[in-house]
Amino acid sequence: MASLVKLAKATLRPGIRAISTSLPAASSGAPPANGYSFELNDEQKEIQSLARKFTAEEIIPKAAEYDKTMEYPWPIVKKAWELGLINNHIPEHCGGTDQGVFNGCLIAEETAYGCTGIGTAMEATGLGQTPVIIAGNKEQQKKYLGRLIEEPLVAAYCVTEPGAGSDVNGVKTRAEKKGDEWILNGQKMWITNGGVANWYFLLARTNPDPKAPASKAFTGFIVEREFPGVTPGRKEINMGQRCSDTRGITFEDVRIPKENVLLGEGAGFKIAMGTFDKTRAPVAAGATGLAQRAFTEATKYALERKAFGVPIATHQAVAFMLAEMAIGVETSRLAWMRAAWEVDQGRRNSYYASIAKALAGDVANKCAADAVQIFGGNGFNSDYPVEKLMRDAKIYQIYEGTAQIQRLIISRQLIERHLSSA
Ligand SMILES: Cc1cc2nc3c(=O)[nH]c(=O)nc-3n(C[C@H](O)[C@H](O)[C@H](O)COP(=O)(O)OP(=O)(O)OC[C@H]3O[C@@H](n4cnc5c(N)ncnc54)[C@H](O)[C@@H]3O)c2cc1C
Repeated sequence: MASLVKLAKATLRPGIRAISTSLPAASSGAPPANGYSFELNDEQKEIQSLARKFTAEEIIPKAAEYDKTMEYPWPIVKKAWELGLINNHIPEHCGGTDQGVFNGCLIAEETAYGCTGIGTAMEATGLGQTPVIIAGNKEQQKKYLGRLIEEPLVAAYCVTEPGAGSDVNGVKTRAEKKGDEWILNGQKMWITNGGVANWYFLLARTNPDPKAPASKAFTGFIVEREFPGVTPGRKEINMGQRCSDTRGITFEDVRIPKENVLLGEGAGFKIAMGTFDKTRAPVAAGATGLAQRAFTEATKYALERKAFGVPIATHQAVAFMLAEMAIGVETSRLAWMRAAWEVDQGRRNSYYASIAKALAGDVANKCAADAVQIFGGNGFNSDYPVEKLMRDAKIYQIYEGTAQIQRLIISRQLIERHLSSA
């Protein structure tokens, strides 16, 4: 398979393949006369086509089997690592290619088209890495991000707990400073890549005063899987995305060196929330990929399946379901593109990221449910691809901020803007 990245000759680090881009400079990146462009540049077209080919050859043929066995898709993750389809936003000084969020989203949409379980397994390492990218110092980045470039290892993001998900301020995991170390105790829940990650970004309360504001009460740490006292629980059996590895993790008297604090004591909440500005657009892109798959499968089936002597696509009720799917897919895609583009311009994009995540999550669910409807009885059966899509879609309204929390963020920003302009 033609590679997006070339594995540079190991001149700097013998035995280690450093990744560098082999693409020609983009030739269609100049803004058009009217200021808008709906064209990908040449580099982005290559990234998209590599991810599409990878999905067709490596993901689609194996998706049903991984769904059945629920095994973590290590062979696929390793191939994605070789091609640079994961870790693409890691900075160059750590050996990465420093791609923007937009390019990562192109990959996320394509891989999700093949299987969002595998897509989530690939994306979750990006979620774990992002706090270190936005808040890590050069040494932390080199040590922990560099490690992921040198070997096919993955990271995870550890914030949610059994008693605190949407309400991050309710996090109870505690870290106490003792000399040059922090002692960590607590329990996390629903951690994607929890059992397979080499290291975690972890949020812990470091100010015991319950009245301390969230902006000062929490600290972000890098915690290695091999630190004594770290114990991942059993793999959770979820409704969908079943090969993605989701676990609870217990932390018991885990000693964390002070060098593993991100930014400084009290900065954790800001880091944990700021991460979503870069990761919600890729989640929305994943949901769009799933919606596109549902739309494609339903269209093919509706043109082949006959009822009352004609293809069911010619019955208006079915044709209109397809039209609704098209509307959803196209608008979700535009929404993740806007959210990704905003953050790549260096602007705060929480508003657009929440719009994209909320819209694409709902659209994925509607498209998957309508695809099952169009398949009739076959849609309810696991020999056909759409029942998996319906199970896989639900999580897009839950993780990385529920559908309700996205609306809370959007509405708060609307109110703030209104009040500040009044
Ligand atoms: C498969 C999977 C993978 C995950 N991966 C990760 C991961 O890698 N890292 C990680 O840290 N977490 C992860 N999560 C956790 C996920 O982000 C949380 O489940 C999610 O944020 C919701 O939190 P909760 O489950 O505690 O639900 P709750 O917060 O208890 O919410 C329950 C319901 O109440 C609603 N609700 C809560 N507060 C409000 C409000 N103020 N207004 C309106 N409605 C509200 C919610 O929208 C929801 O419908 C994962 C979860 C799953 C299921």
